[in-house]
Amino acid sequence: MRDCTRRTFGCLIGGSCMAALGSRAARSQTKARVVVVGGGVGGATAAKYLALSANTLEVTLVEPKPQYTTCFFSNLYLGGMRSLASLTHGYETLARRYGIKIMQDSVAAIDPAAKTVGLESGARLHYDRLIVAPGIAFKFDAIEGYDEAATQIVPHAWVAGPQTQLLREQLEAMEDGGVFVLAAPPNPFRCPPGPYERASLIAAYFKQFKPRAKILILDAKDSFFEQDLFQDAWERHFPGMIEWLPAQFTGGIKAVDVKTRSIKTESGSFMAAVANVIPPQVAGRLAHKGGLVDPSGWCPVDPLTFESKQQPAIHVIGDAALAGDMPKSAFAANSQAKMCAFAVAALLTGSEEQSPHLFNTCFTFLAPDDAVSDAISFKPAGGTIKIGNILLSQVGESGQTRREAVRAANGWYDAFTHDVFG
Ligand SMILES: Cc1cc2nc3c(=O)[nH]c(=O)nc-3n(C[C@H](O)[C@H](O)[C@H](O)COP(=O)(O)OP(=O)(O)OC[C@H]3O[C@@H](n4cnc5c(N)ncnc54)[C@H](O)[C@@H]3O)c2cc1C
Repeated sequence: MRDCTRRTFGCLIGGSCMAALGSRAARSQTKARVVVVGGGVGGATAAKYLALSANTLEVTLVEPKPQYTTCFFSNLYLGGMRSLASLTHGYETLARRYGIKIMQDSVAAIDPAAKTVGLESGARLHYDRLIVAPGIAFKFDAIEGYDEAATQIVPHAWVAGPQTQLLREQLEAMEDGGVFVLAAPPNPFRCPPGPYERASLIAAYFKQFKPRAKILILDAKDSFFEQDLFQDAWERHFPGMIEWLPAQFTGGIKAVDVKTRSIKTESGSFMAAVANVIPPQVAGRLAHKGGLVDPSGWCPVDPLTFESKQQPAIHVIGDAALAGDMPKSAFAANSQAKMCAFAVAALLTGSEEQSPHLFNTCFTFLAPDDAVSDAISFKPAGGTIKIGNILLSQVGESGQTRREAVRAANGWYDAFTHDVFG
């Protein structure tokens, strides 16, 4: 206070000082600008928690879609247990309650030197800090015959929305006795238990409506997350219905012929009545355009702030980030977004820095009344993010425990989507 009075007194002497004081005051009234790209779990959470942590920030969220359909629980839709509408969320509350400016647009380019982003509409936004959460892109050159056009016949359904709807329609139209072939991707990919949960819930649908149908999983890997839990459940709930072929057996997935719906592996071709190919993945396209990826195709980040290691003042969160041991999950994206939002708020406003807490909790359905969970804590260590503690469901748990996990999963969905969009 004493300092301030002395400075003001000195300034009263000269007009130029008055002008300097005026411009400083004007600058301090200008809000620092944060642009968040991508209104998925990562981006929406970051925007909300930035707005909550400092009212001196101007937060803009850029997302092309008017509504967001969650990938999580979309396997329940495929199994006929939930509607797609129940998985769809708008951005109205983020705008109304938290004052976030929502721009329904796409970021076409990032200029890190000028600190601007160019939108598809032609508009340009200035930022002090940029948070990029574009999710994943597919490596369409990895499997011969499987490009973007092919997804209209053989869906990936790995970004929820029309693709998920198309797969459900094909499953409904499939004759009893048909074979559903699911090609599972190599690591790393979005949602490690996702393909196997999908097989389980489609098996539940078949068991009820097409009991002679079969499911064949052609895997690009030789093992998968929670394999013991899945294989135990498949024997108990769907004996003889699901077959899993690892890469060491097939030699890996080489090509897709969409006309005949056949999937070619090193050891032979498999014809499908309905096929679902989940291709290898990399960070969302914008991350590549913005120079945020390394040769792995993902974005290296500082484990405390999620600031890009490639471009200053740009942060990357969610599936696109190379986040050490953290899986590519909605829960992880939400946890990273909060840590990143607090770090950005501290950088721009001088507010107190928060100590890092990174978590992942996933509920996975093995059948409609049989769910398991994993809870993992993470900590920044040695320039990356390492696993702290793990709690995993076990084979042999009682039916009661698994039914309670189903109830907990449904409660989690409501609370989690409220945390992100509410
Ligand atoms: C079948 C399935 C089941 C799953 N189940 C679970 C589960 O039970 N639990 C769990 O935790 N996770 C689950 N996941 C994973 C989870 O959905 C993802 O990890 C999560 O969505 C990642 O969030 P994100 O914000 O990184 O990306 P996204 O949610 O994909 O959001 C990215 C957003 O960025 C937007 N975008 C892209 N490019 C631009 C651009 N240039 N300009 C503006 N916007 C852009 C997109 O439109 C999109 O809305 C599942 C995934 C699948 C496929």
